[in-house]
Amino acid sequence: MNRTIFFISLLLLGIVFQQCSYSQTTPPKKETMSTDNKTKHTAYSRTDTSKVNLSEEEWKKVLPAEVYYIARLKGTEPPGSSPYEHSKEVGTYYCAACGNPLFKSDTKFESGCGWPSFYQPISKSSIIYAPDHSHGMVRTEVMCGRCKSHLGHVFEDGPPPTGLRYCINGVVLDFEKAKEAERKYEEKKG
Ligand SMILES: [Zn+2]
Repeated sequence: MNRTIFFISLLLLGIVFQQCSYSQTTPPKKETMSTDNKTKHTAYSRTDTSKVNLSEEEWKKVLPAEVYYIARLKGTEPPGSSPYEHSKEVGTYYCAACGNPLFKSDTKFESGCGWPSFYQPISKSSIIYAPDHSHGMVRTEVMCGRCKSHLGHVFEDGPPPTGLRYCINGVVLDFEKAKEAERKYEEKKG
């Protein structure tokens, strides 16, 4: 009689332990994509080079509020607020509004100005320029060459070889890390 109770207790204990061990196993982590987690609109593309002409109403609908504020209302993010400012990751920076490739990480430098800074865009057509006389200053505004979204300003106090400093709001940038093979190639080359 006692033996039976003993075995039942063992059995119950076994079940309890089994349940414990089951609860400890965690489901495999889903791979997180660094930039693709935002909902993108239909004109967003990293390969299509055709110009994007959306109305301001449409932009307001498709862009996250903070991107809309800078890209379309020519706002400025607070200095020092972008995680991209000091990032040394190898990869490409795209326009957050339309996906146009804008800058490569190898032209990025520490300017100390409070915003991500680059000395050269990926190509001449990546960027368009306009004189900006707002806030009592004479500056050159930098916009996306594909969708005309405001990105930031360019100044002539950058490092060689261009002597330019593209001072860009991190909010309007999407970063994509270079693939392992590309990174190794770049390291070998350098
Ligand atoms: Zn764009």
